[in-house]
Amino acid sequence: MSETVLVTGGAGYIGSQCCKLLAANGYRPVTYDNTSSGRPEFVRYGPMVEGDILDGCRLDAALQEYRPKTVVHFAALIEVEESTREPTLYYDVNACGTLALIEKCKEHGVEQFIFSSTAAVYGEPPSSPVTLDTPTGPINPYGWSKLMSERFLEDCASDAEIGVTIFRYFNASGSDPDAELGVNFDGASHLIPRLIFAAAEGTPFSIFGTDYDTADGTCVRDYIHVWDVANAHIAALKLQVEAGSVRRFNIGVGRGFSVKEVLDSVERITGSQIDVQQKGRRAGDVSELIAGDVEKAAVELGWKAEFTDIDEIVRHVWNWYCVENQT
Ligand code: UDP
Repeated sequence: MSETVLVTGGAGYIGSQCCKLLAANGYRPVTYDNTSSGRPEFVRYGPMVEGDILDGCRLDAALQEYRPKTVVHFAALIEVEESTREPTLYYDVNACGTLALIEKCKEHGVEQFIFSSTAAVYGEPPSSPVTLDTPTGPINPYGWSKLMSERFLEDCASDAEIGVTIFRYFNASGSDPDAELGVNFDGASHLIPRLIFAAAEGTPFSIFGTDYDTADGTCVRDYIHVWDVANAHIAALKLQVEAGSVRRFNIGVGRGFSVKEVLDSVERITGSQIDVQQKGRRAGDVSELIAGDVEKAAVELGWKAEFTDIDEIVRHVWNWYCVENQT
């Protein structure tokens, strides 16, 4: 019988891709999701339990019924700007949710816990690329809620005798290469879906800041394909960490693209010229975020990014846009 993995947030952007890869690798993914932002139609690779991360009874029932050896925890609120307006909500869902979940995992004998963290824990790093030794210092409640969760896991892992893997994702982007799953364009805040939308609909696109200390004045990010992000979880499952210990990885490619370079790529792939407006800086944006220490995942997990070409990342999002909008 295939090994069961409980995936919180399995109906979401990265969680659903992870479930697809889990099933392809012979695991049985069980999605636990409240569908607040996830899409039930993305839950195609195993059963689904509809439940909130803060609902202890529902979590108990799911862990009791499916008895997973591993829990992969994606369920979270992820909008930086919203987190500055609603910090209580973010601390509640992200930090308290993770704490509640690890406690339940301990009670139910879960052996491995894989956690979605973020490069936002580094705040405004003093240098680039950002290594795992770079001091953390989040600059918004979203980043703090993830860093607090990391701390909870670190402190609880040995007590709970659970092996913990923490992945700090850089800019997760792209869409399922088969165009069966993907990002939401409606209300999207991230760069690539917004650019694709602008290219397809002919609506204006705003560049937030052209006076950064970068080659072309726009911010530079490490865009890592969602398929690669999901695949890191499979690698962690195959090479599990010892009970009671914690390991941490930066999940990125180790190279960056500027906003203008991504814009050029979207114009190339879609064949449309985008109506670009230059706006002031967005609050909280740092000029450059590129993952360092990416070889740690290569050495310890045998993982490295496969979709490193920005045009390929953009093409997958464009293909998904076409699927979503076909009549
Ligand atoms: N960005 C932009 N216009 C947009 C959305 C994003 O210029 O409509 C810029 C943003 O200021 C940042 C980069 O694109 O420099 C990546 O932003 P995104 O929200 O995708 O990810 P973040 O790095 O903020 O997590």
